[in-house]
Amino acid sequence: MSGVQGKVVAITGASSGIGEATAAHLAERGAHLVLGARREERLKAVVERITAKGGSAVGVVVDVTRRADLKRLTDTAVERFGRLDVLVSNAGTMAISPFDELRQDDWDAMVTTHVTGLLNGIGAALPVFRQQRSGQFVNVASTAAYVVKSPQAVYAATKTAVKVLTEGLRQESGPDLRVTLVSPGCTDTEGVGKGGSPAAAAAIARQRDEIAMPPSAVAAAIGYAIEQPEGIDVSEIVVRPTAQA
Ligand code: NDP
Repeated sequence: MSGVQGKVVAITGASSGIGEATAAHLAERGAHLVLGARREERLKAVVERITAKGGSAVGVVVDVTRRADLKRLTDTAVERFGRLDVLVSNAGTMAISPFDELRQDDWDAMVTTHVTGLLNGIGAALPVFRQQRSGQFVNVASTAAYVVKSPQAVYAATKTAVKVLTEGLRQESGPDLRVTLVSPGCTDTEGVGKGGSPAAAAAIARQRDEIAMPPSAVAAAIGYAIEQPEGIDVSEIVVRPTAQA
């Protein structure tokens, strides 16, 4: 199977931003979508927008830090659509702050969402992919996985972990599976700086308002990796606004 048409794609963090844009992009191209996030109402609205346009989507309330929730997401794909072709691990939190502010709950949230959350997705999807002898992981990192800019160290560290885990998974995936890392630069979403320290959030939101690219740019990059023929693995995409230093 090549292209997006008919593929069953689960996306975490699909209630807004890049996840929502990716869902819309793939729905227009005929994918069956299983969408996960914590905010039920927002998730429901995304599903309704897709189905109102004739797309195929179902929502599952998921907290990626909980192992059982990821299992429920992948189980739903298999129960509703008979298989799972792609898991897009996109859920994330950009609660950045300087170390001196000791916002340790935010540090924990970034570690558990990006690292534990990704591992929970691998744990849920890998057995399904192995049994099918096909499947694709698309993991969303960040340009912060390539360069650390203060005060983003914890965020950058967890996104570097996403990059490292993705490369290790790729090496172990064998000939049947595909593993893709997508690293966006500054993207115009509500999540930029959300929950971080007020000063850091204001600075990064200012940068977003000046230079950000639309989330549809990241969605198109993810779509490109998914639509390749079987046996072709787009291993890594970095997509950023030209204005981003
Ligand atoms: P948003 O805040 O719009 O999206 C984040 C999504 O993740 C939401 O749907 C949120 O939904 C979900 N989420 C957060 N925590 C959890 C959790 N524990 N369990 C399940 N879902 C969760 O921001 P973006 O779209 O910008 O972010 C998407 C990804 O892109 C993130 O991984 C982010 O780090 C990455 N990224 C973003 C960049 C940008 O400039 N915007 C740049 C580089 C990378 P809910 O709250 O409903 O659970």
